[in-house]
Amino acid sequence: MISQNALHHAEKCRFCFMCRHLCPVQLQTGREINTPRAKGLVLSMVSKGAEAYDQAMAQTMYECLLCDACVNDCATGYQPPIYIREARTEAVVNDIAPAEVMALIENIEATGNIYGMEKPSFAQNGEEILVYLGEVASCKEEGMVKSFLQLLQKAGVSAKVLENEPASGAMLGDLMGYVDEVVQQAKACTAAINQTGLKTVVVLDSYDVQIMKQKYPEWGCEIQADVITATAYIAQLLESGKLQVANVNRGLAACHDDDRLARTFYEFAPIRAIAKAAGFEVTEMFNKERLAKSCGSAVALAYMPKIVTQIAAGRWEDLMRTEAKIMVTANPQAYLCLSQAIPEGYQLVDAYTALLSNLK
Ligand code: SF4
Ligand code: SF4
Repeated sequence: MISQNALHHAEKCRFCFMCRHLCPVQLQTGREINTPRAKGLVLSMVSKGAEAYDQAMAQTMYECLLCDACVNDCATGYQPPIYIREARTEAVVNDIAPAEVMALIENIEATGNIYGMEKPSFAQNGEEILVYLGEVASCKEEGMVKSFLQLLQKAGVSAKVLENEPASGAMLGDLMGYVDEVVQQAKACTAAINQTGLKTVVVLDSYDVQIMKQKYPEWGCEIQADVITATAYIAQLLESGKLQVANVNRGLAACHDDDRLARTFYEFAPIRAIAKAAGFEVTEMFNKERLAKSCGSAVALAYMPKIVTQIAAGRWEDLMRTEAKIMVTANPQAYLCLSQAIPEGYQLVDAYTALLSNLK
């Protein structure tokens, strides 16, 4: 049912317990099935014809954030998200995916985004860089979008935002695996970006950067511009002096490293540079950088809100083991998830809004 390559990874994981303590879903649900080993075992049994792939098994394949914590820890190089994604494709094809997941896919078909809403427009017609906002920021985190665009304006950067920004394919790829519909979204997105003729595209959401940089080349989608994360771009503007900050102390904070920035790109310094420029003294959570515990993703929050809220609370517990009372993030999906479970007396801060309020 899944490819030989995916099955190879599943077969290795089914004998192994080594990363079970790292899975944020397993940690919160306490369910054995939410370990890579159990998911590998299920797919191994199905591939041997010992069990039929059913709705309960499909459900477990969606109880995963595709956060790569297991991949990062695997000394032997196995990658559970490969077989979990393919198992999701099988679930959708066989009409046994959870109803909540199918509803999100239908929303994408109808409106281009998981929320089934008309995406708010932040269109502007600058000539220096293209900003790709992504659907989560556009639909759910207007404040972060506006602060980010204002930072660019303050730095004198002339930025374009597309009127009808196409989906990158990141959401659909998480929901149903890397099927042809996702490749079609990637092609449309590449064409829209290339049509601008701009040589730099700054991407606000690391989930979009990941698919653009990792998967687009495999599908022949060549973005004819440098793709750069929003965090790295703002850090460059700070370093070059185009953004000048005031000298205030806003207290002790820790930065949350979001899954895809941390474990796909190993990008850690820019968010800390932005937090410091915003006036925070930065401390670290024990699970930081590549070992950062996931706080959930927007797509998982949309189809399993209860579990993702628990997972976000788990990330706040990491902060509570430090002296800091403030969590800083620059990722719209992380902001959305963490905002579901802010403990009393603690504060969630969007790095761009904080920086904007500390400019000279
Ligand atoms: S990803 Fe690696 S460590 Fe985790 S279960 Fe598979 S083989 Fe074991
Ligand atoms: S990708 Fe993350 S959520 Fe999924 S099995 Fe691995 S550690 Fe767990």
